[in-house]
Amino acid sequence: MILLDPKNLDRAYPDERSAEIMRKTVEFFEAKGKQALLEDYYDRPWYAEFLEFVRKERIFASMCTPAGEGAPDVRWDTWRNCEFAEILGFYGLQYWYTWQVSVLGLGPIWMSENESLRRRAAKALEDGGIFAFGLSEKTHGADIYSTDMVLTRDGDGWRANGRKYYIGNGNEAAIVSTFGRFEDGDEYVFFAADSNHPNYHLVQNVVASQNYVSEFELRDYPVRKEDILHRGREAWNAALNTVNIGKYNLGWASIGIATHALYEAIAHANNRVLYGMRVTEMSHVRRMFVEGHARLVAMKLFALRAADYMRAASSSDRRYLLYNPMVKMKTTTQGEAVINLFWDAIAAKGFEKNMYFSQAAVDIRALPKLEGTVHVNIALIAKFMPNYFFNPAEYPEIPRQDHGRNDDFLFDQGSARGLGQIQFHDYRKALEAVDLPNVRIFAEQCESFRQMLQEAPPGPDQMKDVDFLIAGGEIFALVVYAQLILENARIYGLDDDLLDQIFEFMVRDVSEHALQLFGQPSSNETQIARCREMMRKPEHDADRYERVWKRHVEPLDGAYTMNP
Ligand SMILES: Cc1cc2nc3c(=O)[nH]c(=O)nc-3n(C[C@H](O)[C@H](O)[C@H](O)COP(=O)(O)OP(=O)(O)OC[C@H]3O[C@@H](n4cnc5c(N)ncnc54)[C@H](O)[C@@H]3O)c2cc1C
Repeated sequence: MILLDPKNLDRAYPDERSAEIMRKTVEFFEAKGKQALLEDYYDRPWYAEFLEFVRKERIFASMCTPAGEGAPDVRWDTWRNCEFAEILGFYGLQYWYTWQVSVLGLGPIWMSENESLRRRAAKALEDGGIFAFGLSEKTHGADIYSTDMVLTRDGDGWRANGRKYYIGNGNEAAIVSTFGRFEDGDEYVFFAADSNHPNYHLVQNVVASQNYVSEFELRDYPVRKEDILHRGREAWNAALNTVNIGKYNLGWASIGIATHALYEAIAHANNRVLYGMRVTEMSHVRRMFVEGHARLVAMKLFALRAADYMRAASSSDRRYLLYNPMVKMKTTTQGEAVINLFWDAIAAKGFEKNMYFSQAAVDIRALPKLEGTVHVNIALIAKFMPNYFFNPAEYPEIPRQDHGRNDDFLFDQGSARGLGQIQFHDYRKALEAVDLPNVRIFAEQCESFRQMLQEAPPGPDQMKDVDFLIAGGEIFALVVYAQLILENARIYGLDDDLLDQIFEFMVRDVSEHALQLFGQPSSNETQIARCREMMRKPEHDADRYERVWKRHVEPLDGAYTMNP
């Protein structure tokens, strides 16, 4: 089964330590039990107990230290990071978050030439330390160009003054990687701040949750040369390249949350009898489960395949820069769609305080909004569109990247520029390789979209119209989504029935976004005609649908239950 079942972990790892990390993490949560987990969620204590487990078992030390920077068992390995993020999301986004912001905080450190800070980070990880990424500010949101964290010359070093807002782990982080600018000159800077320093003032926790999402202020905070991680263009690259690594994990949190929610939802709905029949015998409820499950499997296939490209990336293969924001944007919004479907199926049950679902329903909303909203990510991926459709390149086939090696390139990504020059392998090959009814319809929709781009590409005004861009960007995202799903369906040997079920909703999704594009105030006649072509009816095969329910969805009833 492709979905996570924490009580039957079956993912292959080349080393015992990786499997042990996953097993022990699951054991921690199962020993804690569902009641205590949910009580903590609603009472909101700091998760000191979890962090003590992490320290004792050296979990973050093993997972978050690149090879060569620490003990022999450490490495930065995206293959195992995926499952770790998925497990944490499965038990609660708050546990995932403290790890995630540590990942982000460590990014600028592992990318830095500053050896003594790298050593300090490795030691802090071994001691059970957590980290923070101090980028956002209250007044500037996504506009990080306007940072008001200012470093003023003071003898050999500087004094930092300014506030940061929404900074996870800012209460306890061993190192807060902080972004700012020098007062003299226009240079940006990343420096290491110490949350225990008397000039580091913790103002508040901005959110009501177990997480500490801090507002903090540096008042005349002394910054020495040895505290500097990056300057100038390098500081900017470190910020973007760190987010490139980090944003990928959001998709996995979403997959973990939605998977746990599915187990709970199906166990409830399939055993609830109304009017003398199971709720899942009602056609609309069954559809919610079949579609929700298909969407979830698609999310996972896509995110796994994106990991392959991330691990295989190099300065001459930067395709991951398209797939990564897609995991962030597409996978997380699909997570919301999945939870919406299941919530409609279980209705009132989804509110109960003894259901993980009640937490999932709230937390799943966070992921599309963090580390760049859907809009920001669509604006980003739109840059890839011309080369993706009209200028493909040949690349060697990338097989599944499940080997146990350090992902060196992630901390050596180089300049964050030149996105428009990146080329991709031809998406049509993946579509042509599969002969299933809904994949064929989908391929025709893609061709209409490509034709539209060729005959009537967005004009200068449309390029400035974010709504227009988003409607088109969503269709582009579906093409990329389909390509990687198809590649991975082959690698994982996915059942054709399930694959065609996935493409049933994919065809519908293209139609919906085509309608959006069609309805834009500025869409022209050619664009409208192509949008009409793109609005297609998927092929519904009742026997296939029934087989998917029987083989893939119904057996999930009772397949996993969290310890009480
Ligand atoms: C719980 C939580 C934890 C967080 N943790 C951290 C952390 O640890 N470290 C950290 O540095 N930050 C963190 N953040 C900040 C987070 O990344 C912010 O959401 C981000 O800085 C964007 O700011 P904003 O949400 O205020 O939106 P704004 O930037 O104010 O955006 C407002 C609107 O404008 C749109 N918009 C902005 N720019 C563009 C663009 N270029 N193209 C198209 N549309 C655009 C957005 O889509 C949005 O609709 C956290 C936030 C939260 C809520």
